Amino acid sequence: MKEIFLLKLGEIVLKGANKRQFENKLRQNVRRRMKKYGNFDVYILQSTVYVEPMDEEADVDGAWEACRSIFGVVSLCRCRPCEKDLDAIFAAIENYLGDDLDCAQSFKVESKRSDKRFPLTSIQLSQEIGGRLAEAHPGVEVDVHHPDYTVYVEVRDLSAYVHGPAEPGAGGLPTGVGGRAMVLLSGGIDSPVAAYMMAKRGVEVEAVHFFSYPYTSQLAKDKVIELARLVTKYSGRMTVNVVSFTEIQEAIRDNCPEEFFTLIMRRFMMEIAQRIAKGDGCGALITGENLGQVASQTMEAMTVTGAVVDIPIFMPLVGMDKKDIISIAREIGTLDTSILPYEDCCTVFLPKHPVTKPKLDRILASESKLDCEKLIADAVASEEIIDIFPQ
Ligand code: ATP
Ligand code: MG
Repeated sequence: MKEIFLLKLGEIVLKGANKRQFENKLRQNVRRRMKKYGNFDVYILQSTVYVEPMDEEADVDGAWEACRSIFGVVSLCRCRPCEKDLDAIFAAIENYLGDDLDCAQSFKVESKRSDKRFPLTSIQLSQEIGGRLAEAHPGVEVDVHHPDYTVYVEVRDLSAYVHGPAEPGAGGLPTGVGGRAMVLLSGGIDSPVAAYMMAKRGVEVEAVHFFSYPYTSQLAKDKVIELARLVTKYSGRMTVNVVSFTEIQEAIRDNCPEEFFTLIMRRFMMEIAQRIAKGDGCGALITGENLGQVASQTMEAMTVTGAVVDIPIFMPLVGMDKKDIISIAREIGTLDTSILPYEDCCTVFLPKHPVTKPKLDRILASESKLDCEKLIADAVASEEIIDIFPQ
């Protein structure tokens, strides 16, 4: 007998008129993610996504793992479908959950009946099945208040389903319902977490990475590609635009006051990111900036770097403590890669005494010594586009 997954929708259930659009997006995302695990039917009924393997070859465990990281799902369970009939429900539980039940000290049955044509109420169904199970498992006590194990029975439109406790899903909103944005992805801890957090709010994420060969190595670039790949586990496929930054950094080094190096460099990053973003239909930029973390992340510095951009800059980490950012990085699996010790271009030509309260007019005066338009155009032209898919 086969197993199917029920994915319960989170916030999207509350979205009124948009609900249909949200559900369609989620179904499309789940379908796309299931493709590599074989032949699965994915459909939505009663605010639940059903994921059903259609043949023996389907990789059910791989598909289950993937479902756990799909945004828009608040909880999920693996279950066994059966006829909407007491004997069939009891047999399915015995066969599918009997061993789990035997390992518990106590249990209860919780039932939901969304098919109101089923002759028993939820309470009657729980009592009836609970009684039969108690008889079949005399070593396991019934405890309706604090059971060790709960058996769930759901009588739905197509079938009845039995399952053990559900697991928490990835939460958030289905990727794609929140528009599209461009993350400035470095090799550090913060920006992959920022990308993950915006993807969790339903944003489709594309990335831009600046590298300064030969000041930064090929390994540093590979590390960023690997970080992007790790984020795709949650965000789905991602395009990474890799942009050469060497010429710009050398021009800044040769022509601008040292204390402004980082800020001017960051203004270039923002402007180039915005150009690529607009060309690719992205409506915002995302960075891993965090107030007060470094000299270039004071309010005044953010004013100066933000001044080159006319679309919103999302900084989901701006008010977080570093330790909380690190725990998210650990949880989503990017931390170990982020802490590999390769240089980022931000640390090349690092000023000894960077300004923390910059004035825009002084920065603009320094930038006037550069042929900004040409530098930007050359950088955009250098872009290498890499498409990354979830593994
Ligand atoms: P992270 O841990 O994300 O590198 P950080 O604390 O090191 O952040 P900075 O190096 O000042 O901070 O960078 C701030 C933000 O600028 C980063 O979070 C990222 O969004 C962007 N950024 C920095 N370096 C690069 C780069 N080489 N390519 C693309 N974006 C970058
Ligand atoms: Mg960094």
